[in-house]
Amino acid sequence: MLLLLKIMVFILGACFGSFVNMWEYRLAIKYGHKKNMDKKVADDKFSYCDNCGKRLKIWENIPIISWLYLGGKTSCCHKKLPISYPIVELATGVLFVVYFNSFSFDLFGNAKLFLSLLIGLLMIVFLVLSATFDFKYMELPDFSTAVLVVGSIAINYLNHNLAWINLFAAIGACGFLLTLYVATKGKGMGIGDVKLAVFMGFLLGGQKTILAFYVAFIVGAIVGIGLMIFKKAKKNSVLPFGPYLILGTVMAWSCGNLVLNLIYKWF
Ligand SMILES: [Zn+2]
Repeated sequence: MLLLLKIMVFILGACFGSFVNMWEYRLAIKYGHKKNMDKKVADDKFSYCDNCGKRLKIWENIPIISWLYLGGKTSCCHKKLPISYPIVELATGVLFVVYFNSFSFDLFGNAKLFLSLLIGLLMIVFLVLSATFDFKYMELPDFSTAVLVVGSIAINYLNHNLAWINLFAAIGACGFLLTLYVATKGKGMGIGDVKLAVFMGFLLGGQKTILAFYVAFIVGAIVGIGLMIFKKAKKNSVLPFGPYLILGTVMAWSCGNLVLNLIYKWF
């Protein structure tokens, strides 16, 4: 029964991931990142082929499976579809299950718990959207960050009746990245990253925010050095930092307590 529920949560997540893919594409048109595309596509309720603009059949929208079945190509014009599509769907599904797992089973009798489950799942959707969009277009959409900030305050309120320490964590995290932003003249990170830090502080509190930053800087550095070694990036090329901040946030959010306990045990 519980396994079946988890599978359903995964499928729900994957469907939302598919929705994020469509949304991210339309947002890119709206924000002017795809200049050759018709702006009308961005407002249409159907999904279309990325290349030739043909309307997709319903089964072609099935998350992960349709991509695998089509071998990563469009069925109409046989052009390559980005690998990011199934990855986003899989990641959203997995994150949904991980978050769902962190709740006990009496969840359905408890309105507060149930509400924080729903808000958390919604936040995962926006986290995946922000990470994907920043990764592809070097921009963290402001509305997505705004939803995340409001969501994190709501979760904080539901879980701790507003822990004020998290407000200070938000101010501290934002101040820290703002300092780096000014010091590197915007080359190390964008102003979107500074805004995202407010959400991180509110959601994670002080210690876990530091943990999230730690993961973000380490993974970001490893990827940056890796890209330089394989000549995909130059020393002065600008890389998006948002995806690493979001990765750090997700890790600190899901297993921060575990890591902090281990640290306390050892030191
Ligand atoms: Zn096509």
